[in-house]
Amino acid sequence: MKIIVQKYGGTSVANVERIRNVAARVIETKNKGFSPVVVVSAMGDTTDVLISLAKQINPKPSTREMDMLMATGEQTSIALLAMAIEALGERAVSLTGAQSGIKTDDFFSKAKIDSIDTIRIKKELSDDKIVIVAGFQGATDDGDITTLGRGGSDTTAVALAVALDAEKCEIYTDVLGIYTTDPRIVKDASLLESISYDELLEMAKLGAGVMHPRSVELARKNKMPLIVRSAFDYGQDGTEIIEVNEMEKAQVRGVTLDEDIVRISVPNVPDRPGIAYKLFSSLINLNVHIDMILQNLNHDGFNDISFTVPVDDLERILPTINAFVDEVGASPIVVKKDVAKLSIVGTGITSDVKIASGLFGKIYELGINIEMISTSEIKISCIIDQSQAKQALEEVHKYFGLNTQ
Ligand code: ADP
Ligand code: ASP
Ligand code: MG
Repeated sequence: MKIIVQKYGGTSVANVERIRNVAARVIETKNKGFSPVVVVSAMGDTTDVLISLAKQINPKPSTREMDMLMATGEQTSIALLAMAIEALGERAVSLTGAQSGIKTDDFFSKAKIDSIDTIRIKKELSDDKIVIVAGFQGATDDGDITTLGRGGSDTTAVALAVALDAEKCEIYTDVLGIYTTDPRIVKDASLLESISYDELLEMAKLGAGVMHPRSVELARKNKMPLIVRSAFDYGQDGTEIIEVNEMEKAQVRGVTLDEDIVRISVPNVPDRPGIAYKLFSSLINLNVHIDMILQNLNHDGFNDISFTVPVDDLERILPTINAFVDEVGASPIVVKKDVAKLSIVGTGITSDVKIASGLFGKIYELGINIEMISTSEIKISCIIDQSQAKQALEEVHKYFGLNTQ
């Protein structure tokens, strides 16, 4: 059995006509000799609509009930897609995350997949049915429904592909593939024929919303062949995700912008060993993604510690940070919300100082102040003011020669 996993995002199943197109595409794949397992997202902006409904009822709904609610979006699309396939004369079965054997931890709204029991899916495939799986959801050992975090259907798809030992995993979306930057913001972004897992993973983590970061991580770890392509224009090849970037010369491959972060500064923290440990270890159990930590130089026995976190985590972690401030006698924290993280990504780029200096020079030329910098072998990120972030993205993208013209 040659299994292929295909994932169709929200825009790709946004209405009846598009669901019919997906059905036809899936049947075409089956007719080529594959056993398709199809993962779908909720139709169009359904997930956003559900979230806003919940907030009208309760401004702080529990994450368990949020997951119960959000999972209904995907349940609608799997049933409709299965019906569309049956209407075209093929056999199909829709399965929720739980029915597909997807077990997760109990971190509601941000759950991680622990295991997948593929017995049911394999049984349906051997019955010659096309299997349609609800993306973005799973269940705990107690049977509670969980979701994997926004954009999590990509991770469902790759995790299933790995568990089923599929030939490949195809991600169908509303653009032609992976571009050098978000093509909706920068009109002349270039489509990449290929990109390495490492580069795509970094871009995804740094705010390129096109792929859920954990999906890329899983594909890389398991060497799962991954393709990102258009759900509307099947004639296009899309972008192939490859093991390594063969190019010898370090080169910027993509530019990303993340506007969904905040900068937290804790001024006047006593300068003594163990203090950073105290602050960050207090955040461990909150499952928060801390980024860009900066500790400035000691002034009169005190340091200022700044870091960035996703805006959605802010409320949740404030009490813990304030408790730290009280305990060590630091000054009240300063939260800056109108910041953005602009990053350039490419294998080996920090080995060529011309690239870093070019980036900083361009930002300087635009009259923008860089508030924080962080680097790794594969990326350079700068925190800048949000008001000029899109302009900086366009200009930096152009500066590194990534435009189509
Ligand atoms: P889906 O519903 O198919 O999962 P998403 O909205 O999650 O689609 O992801 C596709 C979107 O990602 C595109 O419409 C595009 O605006 C955005 N995007 C951001 N950065 C990139 C990039 N570098 N390449 C391609 N798309 C990108
Ligand atoms: N429907 C979910 C979301 O909008 C999951 C996904 O689309 O991948 O985030
Ligand atoms: Mg997505």
